[in-house]
Amino acid sequence: MNLVVCWIMMVIALNGNMILHLRLVKVGADGINSLVRKRMNIEPFTINYNQMGLVATVELSDSGDNSVAWQRFLPTGPVALLPLNDTTSSLVWTHTPAQAKELQSMPPQEFVDALNDAFYKDYPKDTMTTNLMDTLSTFCSAKTIRQYPPAIVAVKDKSRACFPLGFGHAPSYVAQGAALVGDAAHRVHPLAGQGVNLGFGDVKCLTQVLADAVYSGYPIGDKNALLKYERERLMKNVPIMFGIHGLQQLYSTTFSPVVMLRSLGLQITQNLPPLKKIFMQQAMG
Ligand SMILES: Cc1cc2nc3c(=O)[nH]c(=O)nc-3n(C[C@H](O)[C@H](O)[C@H](O)COP(=O)(O)OP(=O)(O)OC[C@H]3O[C@@H](n4cnc5c(N)ncnc54)[C@H](O)[C@@H]3O)c2cc1C
Repeated sequence: MNLVVCWIMMVIALNGNMILHLRLVKVGADGINSLVRKRMNIEPFTINYNQMGLVATVELSDSGDNSVAWQRFLPTGPVALLPLNDTTSSLVWTHTPAQAKELQSMPPQEFVDALNDAFYKDYPKDTMTTNLMDTLSTFCSAKTIRQYPPAIVAVKDKSRACFPLGFGHAPSYVAQGAALVGDAAHRVHPLAGQGVNLGFGDVKCLTQVLADAVYSGYPIGDKNALLKYERERLMKNVPIMFGIHGLQQLYSTTFSPVVMLRSLGLQITQNLPPLKKIFMQQAMG
């Protein structure tokens, strides 16, 4: 959002000796280390995943229609390509901090090879899960065909950067005269690509709540009016955040029963179009 504080309300006139005193709302849109949140004396609940998100801009071999986002869950964490234009995609690659730093400083061609490996290489599979999935596929007609993203041919110069990944949630989004939006209020793992959507939802809700409050005669920034924003967003954000955290945990283990359950869940979702549609709608916000 690139805004630390939005001052919602303007001075209308300052004329001669006249001084106008106006109530303002401070909106903390200043990210995970929010200064506004600190000033509101709100201490977030945090979990450090001990993972880094390596981002980069990469060029693809196919110059066709690059309109599909790809994600593969690897033992080290997910790797994802998000389309930017016909030939370029944005990369988000989860790794341990040491691996991420090594990939960031690797010569470009070595990095491209490692990235193609991440998407194309066959990793050893959990035998129990493979047997279960094979048995299931004999009962259901749909056969899962593995699909591949376009090959990566280059990484844009100086586009590689690493960010620590974690979970964070402010126990309260509002105080008298102040409200938090976006990552200042909540932080999720990028595996579901929902961080920005949650923030956009906050902004839409906050502007509506402020407009309604002023229209109903509340002083702007009144905490009771702002609490409506907090309630509405907690109801939306918390289930999504815990869903994403659950996925992060689910894909961080090699424990066979869990691997089996998650594979089963994916298979069921793949074979039940209405369920798949619900997940797709949620992901698109
Ligand atoms: C590796 C990685 C990959 C991600 N991928 C995705 C994705 O694919 N899809 C998705 O939806 N989300 C993704 N996210 C999450 C997404 O980036 C965040 O949810 C989103 O950027 C939050 O927006 P924001 O405006 O709240 O905070 P920020 O984007 O952090 O913006 C805060 C702004 O405030 C400024 N600021 C902070 N403090 C001050 C100060 N004291 N004075 C002046 N300025 C200040 C900062 O410079 C910054 O510009 C990803 C996150 C990471 C780490």
